[in-house]
Amino acid sequence: MQTKSEKEILRLRQWIADLQSGMYINCVYCGHRYGPDPGTPVAMADILTEHIFHGCPEHPATKLRAALVLAVELIRQWHCMGMAKECSKVAWELYRDNAPEMRPILEALDGN
Ligand SMILES: [Zn+2]
Repeated sequence: MQTKSEKEILRLRQWIADLQSGMYINCVYCGHRYGPDPGTPVAMADILTEHIFHGCPEHPATKLRAALVLAVELIRQWHCMGMAKECSKVAWELYRDNAPEMRPILEALDGN
């Protein structure tokens, strides 16, 4: 059940999507241009968000994402130090998927 505020947020997001559907949208960091494409099944804002989190060469989030990927790899190496390879894979996946301290890192890497 959606609250009144949640319904209003969805209505306003749809309104923004409708307004942007006939426009070009530029990434302010690298200048990459999108749209207009009436056949696009997602809102232009969603396309821009996807660009920022997964493709913009200039956005600060790109550097942060790369740093988090490196940090996860370093955590994996420390976690598995001294373990047999077949054991370390299982131990790492258990730790990575269940440790509360890993959750915010993995959520940030998902970019959603
Ligand atoms: Zn960009």
